[in-house]
Amino acid sequence: MKNIFILLLLTLTTTLTFGQTKINYKIFYSDNLQNEGLKIQVLFSSKKASDSTYFRYSNEVWGETNLTNCLILIEKENPKYTFKILADSNRIVVYHPHEKNISFSYHIIQDIKEENHKARYRPQLRINYFNILGQSLFVVPEEMIEPHIEDPEIIADIEWVNFPKNFIIHNTFGSQQLSQKLKVNLWSEFYNSLFVGGDYRIKSFNYLNNPVYFAIRGNWMGEYTDEHLFEALKKTISTQREFWQDNNFDYYTVIITPTITQTDSLYKGQSIRGSSVANGFLIQSTNNPFNSFLDISYIFNHEMMHDWIGGKILMKNGDLNKWFSEGFTDYYTYKNRLRNNDISLKEWLDNFNLDVLKAHWENPERNKPNYIIQDEYWTNRNIEKIPYLRGAIFAFWLDNQILKKNNYTKSLDDIMRDVLKTCTTENKQFTDELFLEIAQKYLDKDVTYFFQKHIIIGVDFEIKNEDLIDEFKIEYIDKVPKIIVEKEMKNKYILK
Ligand SMILES: [Zn+2]
Repeated sequence: MKNIFILLLLTLTTTLTFGQTKINYKIFYSDNLQNEGLKIQVLFSSKKASDSTYFRYSNEVWGETNLTNCLILIEKENPKYTFKILADSNRIVVYHPHEKNISFSYHIIQDIKEENHKARYRPQLRINYFNILGQSLFVVPEEMIEPHIEDPEIIADIEWVNFPKNFIIHNTFGSQQLSQKLKVNLWSEFYNSLFVGGDYRIKSFNYLNNPVYFAIRGNWMGEYTDEHLFEALKKTISTQREFWQDNNFDYYTVIITPTITQTDSLYKGQSIRGSSVANGFLIQSTNNPFNSFLDISYIFNHEMMHDWIGGKILMKNGDLNKWFSEGFTDYYTYKNRLRNNDISLKEWLDNFNLDVLKAHWENPERNKPNYIIQDEYWTNRNIEKIPYLRGAIFAFWLDNQILKKNNYTKSLDDIMRDVLKTCTTENKQFTDELFLEIAQKYLDKDVTYFFQKHIIIGVDFEIKNEDLIDEFKIEYIDKVPKIIVEKEMKNKYILK
């Protein structure tokens, strides 16, 4: 009896998995994009007939609030249907005739008058282009978002209808594909994506047979030519995929969009930000004659590092693991740029001394414990900086320890690849314990106490000369540490 019951249960589970629901989206072109927005028609078959269905639409994404202002439902386009938007619950209640098949359309519009570098994640739709995060483009039936599954799989067909031939359609799932069939996870992929179209320019290349796409729009100034940026991307791809010894990316894209363009030389500042999404990353920046190439190449290196740290190596404890997910990412941003000659030894040294060590010691909140990052990361700029800098300093200390202990045959690079391998092949998520356990193998000593003291509690690092490889010395100026390079060190510090 018991056996039959288990068998029945098994069959039932299998049927449920196979009976997965699918959703269709048809996205229509309009030659009046800036006013009408994009019209999206949804077609969905619910598992059971009823007269109302809940759809998710995120009211808050990446710090942008009131996003339901960007979603418009037009009654005469949807006869027999009525709608209620419950912004605080991220929900649209769709009232429809009593049946399983639901079909309605909505528009996504730009709700702010002009491009604004502070509203960078809101939908942008002008006559000649659009730029919309996946989460702000698609409503998803709540029925497809099973609450007990952390990152449910979504099957979605997307069709781009009536778009003129020269209107580029490009996104983090494909380039120039007017019909897209996606089978992806909701939170880490479908809702962690960017969809753009219009006057973007596309370039692509293959890295060891895997395609990489570069999409850019706008008339960039200074050193930001398409060719220069494209070359920087190529260099970053080869450096990082070689570093991780991993080229397992079927599709990859970087999308660059200007926020505000100022041709005069009145304002010399630049507001630039990179954000990691599924299968690539996006960069949004102000555009003026003083665009800094060093800044954008920093972002290329930082964001791409997240393909692994945070992408393939998933953080179990979110913000509490930021000392690794941001700190080690930043450490390797500097180290890999030195490795591929993106920056000189002097620039690397200046970066590390000024932007990491000095910046950390000047932060009045630097001794705050790690748990505070969970509560104040998004609201306090000084708290936000802590995990980046504290983590990068820990990485530097650890790298030196491993190089010394293993007589320059192993470095922190080996730990990183070991962490990647453990997390991907053993299906584990990153935890402090997992990291310390792997680190111990390379040091034959336990660094848990050091880690607790400086990363978790927040006591200042006391780096001594004997902690570092012979090529480095440390000196303290007004208690702020500074690295000095004693002799040619690049070949010792960076192992092939
Ligand atoms: Zn980052």
